[in-house]
Parts: sequence; C-alpha cells; structure tokens
Amino acid sequence: MLQIQNLTKQFTVDGRAVPILDIPLWKVEKGERVAITGPSGSGKSTLLHLISGIMSADSGRIAVDGQPLHELSEAKRDALRASAIGYVLQDFHLIPSLTARQNVEIAMTVQLPQKERRRIVDGWLEQVGLGGRGRHLPSQLSRGQQQRVAIVRAMVNNPPLLLADEPTGSLDWETADEISSLLMELSAAHGHTLIVVTHDLNMAERFPRRLNIRDINEVRRETFPRQRSSSGSVDKEGISL
Ligand code: ADP
Ligand code: MG
Repeated sequence: MLQIQNLTKQFTVDGRAVPILDIPLWKVEKGERVAITGPSGSGKSTLLHLISGIMSADSGRIAVDGQPLHELSEAKRDALRASAIGYVLQDFHLIPSLTARQNVEIAMTVQLPQKERRRIVDGWLEQVGLGGRGRHLPSQLSRGQQQRVAIVRAMVNNPPLLLADEPTGSLDWETADEISSLLMELSAAHGHTLIVVTHDLNMAERFPRRLNIRDINEVRRETFPRQRSSSGSVDKEGISL
C-alpha cells in the first residue's frame, strides 16, 4: 500500500538547511494499521504531508497504492489524494459556515444525484452516532462530534489509505478514547490501511504495529539518541515503541 525508499526532506531556516527526514526504506502493507510515535519536531507531520503529496520530497520514492507520487503531475497527485487518501487532523478543519452534512458532501468525489449523495452521507453520520446532527454547524457540535464529522469526511470516498495526525490531540481523555475506538472499528470494518501519528499512548497501544519515528528516520536517530522504552513494547519488526 505504501512504499518509501531513500526519502529525504530538509527545510531551509535562516539560509541554513535543516535535515528533517532521511528514511532509507519503509513499507506498510495493505490493511495494516500502524501507530507512529516520537518527540515533537521529529518530522511526523512532515512525513504524513509527504505521503499525502501535499508536500514534495527532496529526493526518494513514495508509492501509494502502487502509484509513484514523484512521477505524477500535480493534477494527478491531487486526484490521487482526493480519491485514495483520507486525512484526519488534530483540529478537525471543518468549514465553519457549512453544516456537518455539507462538510462531508463537498469531499465526495463520486458523481451522483444529490439525493443519493445525501443518503450516503447520512448513512455515514448515522454510523458514527451523529444521525440527526447533519444540519448542525461545527460550532453547534462538541469537539468529539466535530472529529467524528472529520473522520466521516476522510472516509466517505472509501480511500484505501487513511492518515491521521494527532487525531485525539485536542480532546479530553474520555472523548479521545471514543475517537480511538471509532477509528479502529471503522478502519477494520472498511479494510483501510491506517497510519496514525499520536502522542496518545492509550491509542497507540491498540495498534497491531507501533513504531517510533526514530526507528525509520536516520536524521532523528542522530539528533535524538534512541532509548529503549521501559515497557519494552516491540513492533513486529523488532522496533521499540
Ligand atoms: P512533528 O509533527 O514530529 O512534531 P513536524 O514534521 O511538524 O514535526 O516538524 C519537523 C521539524 O521541521 C520541526 O523542527 C519543524 O520546526 C520543522 N518544520 C516544519 N515545517 C517547516 C517549514 N515549513 N519550514 C521550516 N521548518 C519547518
Ligand atoms: Mg506534528
């Protein structure tokens, strides 16, 4: 589903190049669910931006669902992102002037009559416990409910790959727990490949595969010396959490 080879990314700050990512090889198989942890500033969000094609790498290869991102035109990358990748962010990023239903509808890529689109969206909202909330504006929903709408928006096109960047990062622990469960249940039910970046260890522990970004990123291995976690939790590739 995802193949990364010799990926590098640096930013230029005050005229100086700052290396952020250097990933020799990393693969995620179809249907796998992976949690990535790691210190703040270690390039986790940058990695997701590169995988989604919002940002370009300096060198290397990223293939999503068999399609090499770096070889696609910008228009084709945008099309791939819209249809094949769902993205959930910490702060939901719903459009404040649109209702819950409209926020989902505008993300739909299939061409269907309005009535049919609405039926699909309402079905999804129902599935995440928001039946009857379709006409609410984001400001009329709790934070947890807003994240549910954002999850539906990310899933409505049935993308094979779902990315989430700190999806519980701005929620209280109880709501975070509900959102974690929802993401796990929906991704399992729909067979998504799921890559989640999280500081939330309660969430990370639910994932069959967990890794610390330092385990795949050579840059951060030098900058943040690797330490074994005391729990000794280990990824199936022998990677410590
Ligand atoms: P994380 O998500 O792990 O906290 P990020 O991927 O957001 O880390 O950022 C990694 C590093 O790259 C940080 O040091 C950050 O300051 C830097 N960075 C991110 N975006 C930019 C940018 N557009 N320009 C310069 N530096 C950036
Ligand atoms: Mg981040």
